[in-house]
Amino acid sequence: MQVTRETFNQVMVPNYNPAAMVPVRGEGSRVWDQEGVEYIDFAGGIAVNVLGHCHPALVKTLAEQGNKLWHLSNVFTNEPALRLAKKLTNATFADKVYFANSGAEANEAALKLARRFALDHYGEDKDQIIAFTKGFHGRTFFTVTVGGQPAYSDGFGPKPGAIVHCEYNNIEAVKALFSERTCAVMMEPMQGEGGIIVPDPEFVKGVRALCDEHNALLIFDEVQSGMGRTGKLFEYMNLDVKPDILTSAKSLGGGFPVGAMLTTDKISQSLKPGTHGSTYGGNPLACAIAEAVFDVVNQPEILDAVNHKEALFRAKLEEINNKYHVFAEIRGKGMLLGCALNDKYKGRAKDFMTAANEQGLMCLVAGMDVVRFAPSLIIPDEDIAEGLARFERGIAHVIAND
Ligand SMILES: *Cc1c(COP(=O)(O)O)cnc(C)c1O
Repeated sequence: MQVTRETFNQVMVPNYNPAAMVPVRGEGSRVWDQEGVEYIDFAGGIAVNVLGHCHPALVKTLAEQGNKLWHLSNVFTNEPALRLAKKLTNATFADKVYFANSGAEANEAALKLARRFALDHYGEDKDQIIAFTKGFHGRTFFTVTVGGQPAYSDGFGPKPGAIVHCEYNNIEAVKALFSERTCAVMMEPMQGEGGIIVPDPEFVKGVRALCDEHNALLIFDEVQSGMGRTGKLFEYMNLDVKPDILTSAKSLGGGFPVGAMLTTDKISQSLKPGTHGSTYGGNPLACAIAEAVFDVVNQPEILDAVNHKEALFRAKLEEINNKYHVFAEIRGKGMLLGCALNDKYKGRAKDFMTAANEQGLMCLVAGMDVVRFAPSLIIPDEDIAEGLARFERGIAHVIAND
């Protein structure tokens, strides 16, 4: 059956507007489309393909587990889930894990747990969730309401209540919202979708202190920042601030859908049998692949190389900017970087992304003003160089057509 980008408009719900080309194959940090055109991948499936495409260890695990056992339901436990949970808890602050299929689902579980924990320990008046403008936590109705972009949650009827927002990186604004009614703060330890915004470490420490003072839980959404992307297994380790609940997805499965919520033994006790669940969450196929991802990512030589690769990106991007004067700032950490456009080009991130795509580079935007890169942690240095050369040609093209 012949299918093309045109087919999308015929048979798909129009909530996305994908690129003109249709990718058919990937290997490492390179992807090929239906016409055989090759692309360098700086998008990484939106910070998902943490080991690139078709990494041999993941392909091997997929085939092995695929021939063994795919799915059981949570009426039975399984070895890959138990092994993965052991590895995640050994490597982090957490004692307990809940598995889901996506970031939104991991966050939904985190929010429900925080509400139930507050109810169990402090009564029903402690229900307020503080979150941040420009924050992003997924697209279920609860998570999108906690997210700080009303445009994503408006128009679907009455929203879940007791959710308030304030400015990120502004501790006074957080303090002003806090009360004994506050049950949790949900935040990304580095905002991704909101524009690659790295917080001041003192701000994050301040939020932790406010939570402690008011018996509120601190939830770190590390769906985008986690699993090695910032050079540590999770960004909270760079910040030296421990959350009470942490969520992971995206890179966790390296391209296979899986999410996880991590927490302490004490807090976990509020999700008693029957309080929450998922048909697929924690299935052996997803967990086997996530375990294989974890085994590769959580090695010092992989994590340390992230900083070296970031330096390559930054050096070349500075060079490009000295020539074309398009960026106000290069921000982010590790393999999650944002090129924030200067005033002259504000609002045009998508034009740069499209122009790069036409030169054979897949990249992302984060809002209207930031071009975002979230490549594989093991992208070869020569692919970084070639990808940035293509990016530069894209920039030259945008400027020439102004
Ligand atoms: C992508 C993202 C989510 C949502 O994950 P899904 O798998 O799309 O549900 C949640 N939080 C953050 C920080 C994200 O970047």
